[in-house]
Amino acid sequence: MLLIKNGILVNTGSKNPLQQVDILVSGKKIVKIGKNLTATKAQLINAKGRIITAGLIDLHTHLRDPGFTSKETIASGSAAAALGGFTTIVAMPNTQPRMDTAEKIKSFLARAKSEGVVNILTTGNLTQNGEGKLLTNFAALKKAGVKILTDDGCGDSHPQDLEVEKKLIAAAKKVKLPVMMHAEDSEMKCNTHLHAGVVAKKLGIRGSSAECETVMIERVLELLRKNPTPYHFTHLSAAGSVDLIRVAKKRGLPITADTTPHHLTLTEKAILDSGTLAKVNPPLRSEAHRKALIAGVKSGVIDAIATDHAPHLAEEKNCEFTKAAVGLVGLETAFAVLYTDLVKRKLLTLPQLIEKLTTAPAKILKLKAGEIKVGKEADITIWDIETAYKIDKTKFASKGRNTPWNGKKVFGKATDVIVGGKIVVKAGKLV
Ligand SMILES: [Zn+2]
Repeated sequence: MLLIKNGILVNTGSKNPLQQVDILVSGKKIVKIGKNLTATKAQLINAKGRIITAGLIDLHTHLRDPGFTSKETIASGSAAAALGGFTTIVAMPNTQPRMDTAEKIKSFLARAKSEGVVNILTTGNLTQNGEGKLLTNFAALKKAGVKILTDDGCGDSHPQDLEVEKKLIAAAKKVKLPVMMHAEDSEMKCNTHLHAGVVAKKLGIRGSSAECETVMIERVLELLRKNPTPYHFTHLSAAGSVDLIRVAKKRGLPITADTTPHHLTLTEKAILDSGTLAKVNPPLRSEAHRKALIAGVKSGVIDAIATDHAPHLAEEKNCEFTKAAVGLVGLETAFAVLYTDLVKRKLLTLPQLIEKLTTAPAKILKLKAGEIKVGKEADITIWDIETAYKIDKTKFASKGRNTPWNGKKVFGKATDVIVGGKIVVKAGKLV
């Protein structure tokens, strides 16, 4: 048994979202929540002055395993997740081999269970080898354990052919699996991963416009109007995307969306300071886009926040901007960056932020996780939000060091993390 004493529980759905409580865990489950709880022989965690939340859930983690284990492994990626306060992560399918058959999914999930320190779920490819042409067997993937279908990071990152899109919508609807879309038009995109704005102009590199994202979303919304099925738009970067999702949700389409900590806290100007470390896809855009994304998160048009954790080798970033790899590591910095730059600046409340990182992703994936309630699995994170510290990439558990936030002064550190009743992080260190 485990007894957490005197922490402030952030309850996202409640009218009184911040309350001091004790939480008793027995086996894998939360068995009691209340005041002045006692339990003989229980292991004690003193959470006085600390915040307690459900363990965070990341909808979008590039775990790189199998195939690219010099960048990250199930073990290193899940350790990074735990240190960042995440108790559940969803692996992306752009591994080698791709996650496009039931056999590969089963083998990955079996390894994830034995080698990971947090709950690891997986996406499955929409198309064979992620090539955007022939659909995978959605029913078989679902049976093997896939929670959501996407081609993110494979080939064009999403099928570009409208006939393929129509087919995948119908097939996903039939098996009741949600689809996740990386929205990027392959003809309009330009591989520089720089927003077509002031920085692209300054560097003399051709930029990629926001329409590259919005035209793809528009195209799918048109098809979903005729054949609605749960559809999730990931890592939104553009103001126009927020507008499209808002209108489509008003019309009752069963769609959801997320954006990332970097799109909410950085703009294209980060490239002037951080160079290739701020090279991401979709690209960081202007302040007007960033503001629209924050407003979207606040109003609920954007349901969730996902890291798009994308570890790379140092040499893949220590090169010319146009040749550098795309993406940044996010699991160990997500909460701190969001808490420091959005909550402390009063752009979001703490319960709002926690909802975007727990209950909202759980709902999208139809998981029973994401809430602190009696009877629920004990996936719990305890946070110190009072002590300032500097992000230090040399201390990451992730093999990736590609962060634009190294040295940034932040607040918000996971001190204790409990996964299924088991302590995996204690006093800020992996157990
Ligand atoms: Zn993507």
